[in-house]
Amino acid sequence: MKCKRCRGPAEVQIRQHSSAFCRPCFIIYFHRQVERAIHKQRMFTPEEEVLVAVSGGKDSLALWDALQTLGYRTVGLHLALGIGAYSTDSTARTEAFAQARGLQLVTVRLEEEGHAVPTLAAFTNRPACAACGMAKRYYFDKLAFERGFSVLATGHNLDDEAARLLGNVLHWQVDHLAKQHPILAPTHERFVRKVKPLYRLSEYETAVYAFVRRIDYVVDECPNSVGATQLVYKDALNRLEAAMPGTKQNFVQEFLRVGQPRFASAFDGPPRSCARCGMPSFGEVCSFCNLLREVEDKRARRAAARPR
Ligand code: SF4
Ligand code: ZN
Repeated sequence: MKCKRCRGPAEVQIRQHSSAFCRPCFIIYFHRQVERAIHKQRMFTPEEEVLVAVSGGKDSLALWDALQTLGYRTVGLHLALGIGAYSTDSTARTEAFAQARGLQLVTVRLEEEGHAVPTLAAFTNRPACAACGMAKRYYFDKLAFERGFSVLATGHNLDDEAARLLGNVLHWQVDHLAKQHPILAPTHERFVRKVKPLYRLSEYETAVYAFVRRIDYVVDECPNSVGATQLVYKDALNRLEAAMPGTKQNFVQEFLRVGQPRFASAFDGPPRSCARCGMPSFGEVCSFCNLLREVEDKRARRAAARPR
């Protein structure tokens, strides 16, 4: 097998493109895919400072590495979720990554805010991932706005987008399909543009990139991910991909080309402002403030029931 670019011995096979690369040419290919996504979708310009959400996993660290290498101005944002050893390890690796490269990183520890994921889940009887998703969305939006960024980038890859699309289609979540796009323009004064520069690259490709670039990322999955429906969808898509290479790419690209514009009209209008925190909301208060109200109510009931 020969490298598609330099004709030297290839080490990385990309089945969905029927091509293969040696290590240096794979890095060039990866960077070109990221650049193509940024330019094609007009995600941001080299003059803009990009806030990159970094979890400590391979995708977000690969994204940060690629953007930095391509010359974009970036600042990392890490949420320490408070999920035991998994979070401690994630934070340590993210901080080590930033320090080794001299990159600016903002770390917010949810435990210090009283909003650690296990606390939010236990006090509201919600699945940990539901509470976690709300906290991440809220803090990312809020911090991006408060710190004056115009764009927030996340490490969602092709597999993430294909699995999300499959879930949205299986349940015909039309309002979610309307908002599934690699670039989301702000619909409220406190929203910033949200972009996914890795949406053209598969999980396999980001893993190879992280390996070749010697990125030290968290390999263990979050303990709460066991049994997650997203993993079931990914597994189903991996089987289809093995039998028919290119399925995931075709699924996502054709949705964006043909399907998404048709669903865009189902967009449920711009949000209003949360009566409690001022962030965008579709109800009187935003979903995160609703969650916090439940936590506060439960704390108050427990305190009242305590013997004096
Ligand atoms: Fe959060 Fe669930 Fe992901 Fe763990 S698996 S980081 S709890 S969303
Ligand atoms: Zn709110």
